[in-house]
Amino acid sequence: MEGLERTSEIQAIIRRKVATLVTVCAVIMTILDIALFIYNLELDLFRDGPLPFFVQRVLTPLVVNFGLLSFMWGSEGGIHSTDYKNGVVAWTICSVCGVSAIVHGVYVITWIGTGLGVLFLTISHNRLQKVLILIYSYVLVTLAFLAQLHEWRGVEKILDKTVFVYYVQNLVLCYAMLAIVYFMSMVLHSHILEIMEDNRNLMKQSGEYEQRVATDALTGCYSRDYLSHNIEKIFRKCTNRLATSVALIDIDNFKKINDTYGHDCGDVVLERIGKLGRMLGHAEQERPLYRVCRYGGEEFLFIFTDRNPVTCQKQIEEFRRVFESQEYDFTDDRITVSGGIVTCSSAQEFNVVFKAVDEALYEAKASGKNRIVVGKGL
Ligand code: GH3
Ligand code: MG
Ligand code: MG
Repeated sequence: MEGLERTSEIQAIIRRKVATLVTVCAVIMTILDIALFIYNLELDLFRDGPLPFFVQRVLTPLVVNFGLLSFMWGSEGGIHSTDYKNGVVAWTICSVCGVSAIVHGVYVITWIGTGLGVLFLTISHNRLQKVLILIYSYVLVTLAFLAQLHEWRGVEKILDKTVFVYYVQNLVLCYAMLAIVYFMSMVLHSHILEIMEDNRNLMKQSGEYEQRVATDALTGCYSRDYLSHNIEKIFRKCTNRLATSVALIDIDNFKKINDTYGHDCGDVVLERIGKLGRMLGHAEQERPLYRVCRYGGEEFLFIFTDRNPVTCQKQIEEFRRVFESQEYDFTDDRITVSGGIVTCSSAQEFNVVFKAVDEALYEAKASGKNRIVVGKGL
């Protein structure tokens, strides 16, 4: 869960970085465009009046750039989940602008903004796709340039050769900017890949860490830590149709085993409980019959979720019986366990369930040990 949150956090950071870059580039391009326009002021580019100038030179680049920006800021699920969508939208915008430029003779500068957006939008795509988009943008910029030439020649409004030079300057600027943006997007792309790789490693490490914390080192059973994180929700979900049975198992006379044969031999017995518990729980089941958790020193909880109570009682009795028949290197004596089991068919707090099962265990100990007592259901 934390890993997922971190991934979307990183994606949001990347999206913000990309959007900031596009904004910066859009502003730079607008300034460059105006500078180029002022530099060529004597060409009388203002000839059609202020409105067409405003629409063509200011509004169109702004709409294109900010349209792309808002798409990026608004795209749900992060740029990595919208690879395909980004590509389609970028190419659609590009095509619409292309047609618009050819029909209306919109200034080439529009293309720079579009090209920027296209390249940055597709930042998370593969390299080949980026190259294709770059080629596509170059073709469209060239088409727009040719459209302008055609309009200039056809209408013959201005015969001054310097207009041609101005158009070429625009074209070169477009080509250069596209190349720069392409390069920047490639750098950012590898940066993103690095971040994603780091994140993957982090998630792997945290997964391994969680696994370690969830597992008891000696027995391989679930740990008390795992139990305390998950147990409440298991019992709060209990209903008549979704019953959970829980058994508490305690080794008989364990202190004596420790005292007689040593702590290491005691550990062997504990390990055996874990091994046997897992083995019997998994036998011929498509999902484990129960989860075994080391609750305390030599006390184990067996949790049977959504299982028939009679099956659970039989299973824990089977465990007791098989455990009793185990052989050990250090003794010929039989080592036994006692246990209590209760079934929970209504939502309960864990401490209520534990009290009930502990009482059943106490009864098993008090009535001679090496037995399972079925407690009152809840
Ligand atoms: P009873 O039959 O009534 O359960 O008697 P018992 O001797 O088993 O009594 P009790 O449950 O109080 O004993 C628990 C013992 O478990 C005491 C402690 O030394 C031992 N123990 C707890 N954790 C470990 C462990 O990790 N390894 C070993 N070897 N012993 C442990
Ligand atoms: Mg005990
Ligand atoms: Mg004991």
